[in-house]
Order: sequence, then C-alpha cells, then structure tokens
Amino acid sequence: MRGRFQWLASPNTMRAAGCTRRALWRPALVLACLLFAACAFGKAEPTDPGQLLAHADKIKTIDHPQFVQIIKDLAARSNSLQPTQLGYLRFLEAWQVAYSGDYDVGGRLLTQVIDKSDDPVLRFRATATLVNILGIGHRYDEAFARLSQLLDQLPTINDATARFQGLGEAAQVLIAAGQYDQAASYAEQMIADYPKGETTCKGMVFKLHALFKSGRLQSLDPAFAEGVDTCVAAGEILVANTLRADIAAFEIQQGASREAITLLQANYADVRRDQYPSLMSQFDALLAQAYWETGDSEHARASAISAINMSIKSEYTEPLSMAYDVLYRIAKEEGNTRAALDYHEQFMAADKGHLNDITARTLAYQMVRQQVEDKKIQLFDLSRRNQILQLQQELDRDAVKTSRTYIVLLLFLLASIGFLLYRLRRSQLRFMRLARRDGLTGICNRQHFVDEATQALRYSAKSSRSACLILIDLDHFKTINDTHGHAVGDHVLKRTVAVCQRHLRSRDVFGRLGGEEFGILFPECGAEQALARAEEIRQAIAEVPLDRDAGHVMVTASLGVASAERSGYNLHRLMVDADDALYRAKREGRNRVASASSAASEQPPGDLEISYAGELG
Ligand code: GH3
Ligand code: MG
Ligand code: MG
Repeated sequence: MRGRFQWLASPNTMRAAGCTRRALWRPALVLACLLFAACAFGKAEPTDPGQLLAHADKIKTIDHPQFVQIIKDLAARSNSLQPTQLGYLRFLEAWQVAYSGDYDVGGRLLTQVIDKSDDPVLRFRATATLVNILGIGHRYDEAFARLSQLLDQLPTINDATARFQGLGEAAQVLIAAGQYDQAASYAEQMIADYPKGETTCKGMVFKLHALFKSGRLQSLDPAFAEGVDTCVAAGEILVANTLRADIAAFEIQQGASREAITLLQANYADVRRDQYPSLMSQFDALLAQAYWETGDSEHARASAISAINMSIKSEYTEPLSMAYDVLYRIAKEEGNTRAALDYHEQFMAADKGHLNDITARTLAYQMVRQQVEDKKIQLFDLSRRNQILQLQQELDRDAVKTSRTYIVLLLFLLASIGFLLYRLRRSQLRFMRLARRDGLTGICNRQHFVDEATQALRYSAKSSRSACLILIDLDHFKTINDTHGHAVGDHVLKRTVAVCQRHLRSRDVFGRLGGEEFGILFPECGAEQALARAEEIRQAIAEVPLDRDAGHVMVTASLGVASAERSGYNLHRLMVDADDALYRAKREGRNRVASASSAASEQPPGDLEISYAGELG
C-alpha cells in the first residue's frame, strides 16, 4: 500500500540534495525534496524571518539539520513574527513532526494550520501534506475527506508549485481509491501546468499508471516509452523506473516475460542504488514472476526472497503476495509439500491483506464521496430553503405593507362613516327639534304639546296627583294684525310667549296650539292654584305694554281653566272643558279667566287611556 501514496522521487536529485534514506520512506516529504532541491543551492542564508522561513521551506529535506535549526530559532522568537509568518512557521513545524515519523501529532498540527491560517496557499499545502500522511497511516476515510477539501480549494490556488503538489496528491490518492479517470484528469493538469524546476514527467507517469491500473490497457502504448524517455531526460530515474515496472508487469500479463526480465534487469542496478524499498520490492517480485514464467526456478526463488526482504514489514503489499505466490509454486513443483503449504498460507495472508487494503480504500473513498454528495445536497437544500424563506419574508413584508394600507384605509373609512353618522345624527336631532318646535315662538308645537301633556297627565294619574290645563286666546288679535300689520302680530305672539314663560315652572308643558292660541299643562296643581296662576298670567299679558314703531299696542287675553279633578286625566276632555271655559270668558267680555264649570264635565275622573292625539287624528 505504501507505494500507492508515495511520490516518485528522483534518486539522483535526492542524493544530490542530501536527502536521507529515511526521507525516502515519507512520500510527501520526498515531494518537497524534489520541488525545492534545485532552488536551494548557491544562495546566501537570509536573516529576515520571512526569508528565513522560505529558505527553511526550500532546504527542509536537502539540509534537514539546518532546517530544524532555523525553525527552532524562529520558534524561540515567535513573539516578533507577524501572523502570516507565524502560520508559515507552524506549518513547517507540523511538517517536521510528520517527517520525524509521528503522523498522529503531525496530522493534528497540520489540521491546526488548516483551521487557523488565513493564507489560502498555506492551507492548501497543509491539506495536501495531510492527505499524504493520512494515506500512509491507512486512515483512508480521513484522507479522502481531506482530499475532497483539497479539490474544493484547487480552483482558487494560483501558486503553481502548490497546485502541482495538490494535483499530484490528488492523482495518487485517486489511483489508490480506484478512481482512474479522475486521477488521469489531474495528471493531465500536471502535464499542462507544471511549475519551474518540474517537467511533464510525473504527470505522464501518474496518467499512465492510472491507465495501467484501470486494466483497460490493450497493447503497450508508445506513450509509456515516451514517459520513460521524458523522465530519464529530466533526470527522474526513479520515476522512470516506476513506469518501467508497469511496463514489465504488462509484458508479463501479455506472455512477454523475457522482455520483462530484460527491461527489469537493465534498470535493476539503478533501482538498487536508489535504495527505494517499495520499488526494489516491486522489481524483485516482477522478476520472480517473469523468471517463473520462463521456467527459471532458481532465479525466480532468489528474486521472490529478495522481494520479501525488501517489502515493508507488517504490511501486506502486492509485491509480497506475488513473491509468496511464486515461492509456493516452486515448492509445489519441487514436491516440497510442507514448504508449499507454508508459502501458500503466507501468500493467502498477504493477498487477503492486500485486497483488504484495496477494499478499505475503495470503500472509504465511496463513503466520503457519498458524504460530500450528501453535504452538497444538504447545502443546496438549505440554500433553497433560505431562498424560500427570504421570498416568504418578502411576501410577508409586502403582506404587512398591504395590511397596513388596508387598515389605514379601513380606519379612514370608519372615521368617514363615523363622521357621516355624527352629521346625520346631528341633522336628525335638528330636524326632530324643528319638528317639535313652533317656528315663530320656539315653544312646543301643537303635536309635541299633545305628546308631552299626555305623558305628564299619565304620570300624574299614576301618582294620583292633580293637574290642570289652561287655554289662552289673545283678544281681538285679528284687529291687531289688521291695525298694525302682520309683523306686529308676530311680535305680539312672541312677546306673549315670553311673558307666559316667566310664570312657568320647569315641569309645566307650554305649547302653541295654533294662531294666537296657547295651552299650558300644570302638573301637580289643583284647580284653585291653577286659577290663581292663570290670573297672574292674564295680568302679566295685559300689563306688559308693547312699544312698536307704529304706536302703543294693547294686548289682552282670555283664559279657560280645566282641572283633572273635574275633567279627569284625559287630555281631550280637559281641552274641551278648558275651551268651553275660554269661550265663556270671551263671552263674558274677554281679558278674564274662566274655570270649567262642574256641570261641563260629565266625564268621570280616571278615564285616562283615550289618546288625545288619536282622537284628533
Ligand atoms: P277674539 O277676541 O274673538 O279671539 O277675536 P280674534 O280676532 O282674536 O279672533 P280670530 O280667532 O278670528 O282671529 C285670529 C287671527 O289670528 C286670525 C289670523 O289672521 C291671526 N293669526 C293667526 N296666526 C297668526 C300668525 O302666526 N301671525 C299673525 N300675525 N297673525 C295670525
Ligand atoms: Mg283665536
Ligand atoms: Mg283671539
């Protein structure tokens, strides 16, 4: 498995740059060695913290002790560093911890850099390194989750070196997950856009490796030879040899084992010299397989044992299972059943472990992909919900606005209706008042007098209190009109009313019954008292002279009095009796008061309920 995640470093470059053998075991770190080795030489060591950090970054695998010293020195004066410089330092420290083999702590520190740094390129580089070490640590689900973040960031990264690193990590991790097409597409981006100091070599190798692993390779594509040549020309011998391993494996599959042996042997010395364990193991396993196919058991055995020795301990890899398979076949052919059984068991264990690892990678990839898709759908759903919510709020706002307008309109309408009702009521009341009043004198008109007097008589009857009615008729009024004019006649009428009112109590009912004829109902008033009050009124009318422009006008009146004691509480009867008395006063000479004689009233008292208004129509 380790080989799947390893960057394919050029041994010459690494050796020249002073990379330790240990560095070869840490793929991501090898990348850094590759990327920056060429730029690291011939430059004076800087003193400025920013330059120091960049310098340390360049030499981290080339001159590792110096790199460690620089980051230690910078950590000692971390207080004087700017936030971006501090972030950069934390990234290099995290890288150093991972380099030293502590992937857990290194991973945690890289995660902190990713979470805290404001620098997108630094975050991207930290994510790429994290993807690599998570893969090495077989923590595939986390590796793929980080890969997803890496790919999300990729379009925003303009730094060519960082992009190249990210694309390389993506291509390798995707090959490990069996996502060959996607891996090939990232490899193509590496070919199309490589940074200074790089070539198309790695991109080509990843692309061809994806093609080979996909199983879609029918015949040996000329691109393989081209890839090898490109890498050799670029000095990337180790990378070229990883491609040669793919070519040899394909040749063995195609039955061309002799060609495979020739190719592997021709480059075996270089691979040995490079001391790159996973590739050595792979070369040996392929040789073992090819020798076995050609019937050379001895060389096959030697290569298989070498492959086993070279393979990473406690890890099941493809070369390991290939080597045990060859050893099992040799032992079986030799009739060494015990050894055959033993190798077969080891082959089964290695093969199973290797396949399990592939399954784990593929499953983890699919799971993370599913989660990412889920998240995207959820985010989409959320944004749709937010849109709906916003629309709803806008609608609500509009609805509130509309409601407010309606409320204002409604209030205005209600106020208008209220005002109209008020005006209507006022004019109704005015009309009612006018309908009840006599237009000339302002006192009750005949109809209203009848209503009020009937009401008062009913009350008096109920409470058994006496009541009297007085009718007043001005004497010779026609003559006044004729002598002084109608206007003076009107004035006389108003004056008479005013004089009478001075002699009335609040509960007395006073009305103009027509022409120069008036009626007064005295509630709670006996016949004697009524006569006395009528007399007072007569005197008052006669005594108050009227000065007009036309001359001195004398006004007198005749009054007829009827009491309920004699006539009963029926207004009609009282009116008839009072009118009889009035007529008698006129006959007896006018300007006097006459009372209804006892003989005039034949109606027994208490017969009240006949409506006067009803009788008069
Ligand atoms: P008597 O003493 O017999 O009652 O004589 P009189 O002239 O008062 O008798 P009569 O009832 O015939 O006359 C009433 C007159 O009152 C007739 C009419 O022209 C007059 N008159 C009725 N209403 C009004 C009014 O509103 N204004 C004026 N100026 N005159 C009115
Ligand atoms: Mg009259
Ligand atoms: Mg009269």
